[in-house]
Amino acid sequence: MPTAMYPGTFDPVHYGHIDIATRASHMFDRLIIAIYDSPANKRVLFPIQERVALMREAVQHLPNVEVMSYNGLTVHFARQMGARVIVRGLRTLADFEFEFQVAMTNQRLAPEIDMVTLITRSEYAYLSASILKEVAGLGGDVTEMTPQHVQEALRRRFRELGGAPGRQVPKARLRDQRRPGSE
Ligand code: ADP
Repeated sequence: MPTAMYPGTFDPVHYGHIDIATRASHMFDRLIIAIYDSPANKRVLFPIQERVALMREAVQHLPNVEVMSYNGLTVHFARQMGARVIVRGLRTLADFEFEFQVAMTNQRLAPEIDMVTLITRSEYAYLSASILKEVAGLGGDVTEMTPQHVQEALRRRFRELGGAPGRQVPKARLRDQRRPGSE
């Protein structure tokens, strides 16, 4: 089976990502997890070196998986690394619409590279890095979302940021409702 690449922001890695990486590692001889360095449309909580280190620890039990960072077009990096398949995870219809558009674009840019999408497991269907960061940033229990070393990294990072989720974490979804009359 060819080499595959699983690209993403992974800010930070969680069990939904690890599940996709594990399943893909059984399908391909070699899987490269490619972590995008500086996404233009996303504010990241963790710098690239830390996202790479957290991912390496999370997948260290998978012998045919490597973790690398990259910039530029995913298909260019896939070509450079000899990957003929790009793996992505799918949770919702919204994921599908986005991935479909990206896949169509990638097909034009690199017709020799195919995309394989793996459907999330039901227990991770709700899980995203944004939800994880928001719950962790507001002091909630994230033990079912991500491994212990990532939980610790989240606590450390939020301490560094002064305890508040800050601009890197979208707010207002899981916050307590404001009490009537309070401002
Ligand atoms: P990106 O910015 O590329 O979307 P993410 O780190 O958010 O990067 O996600 C990387 C990949 O993992 C994407 O294909 C995404 O759909 C998939 N993914 C994220 N969360 C889950 C989950 N809970 N279950 C399955 N796949 C997921």
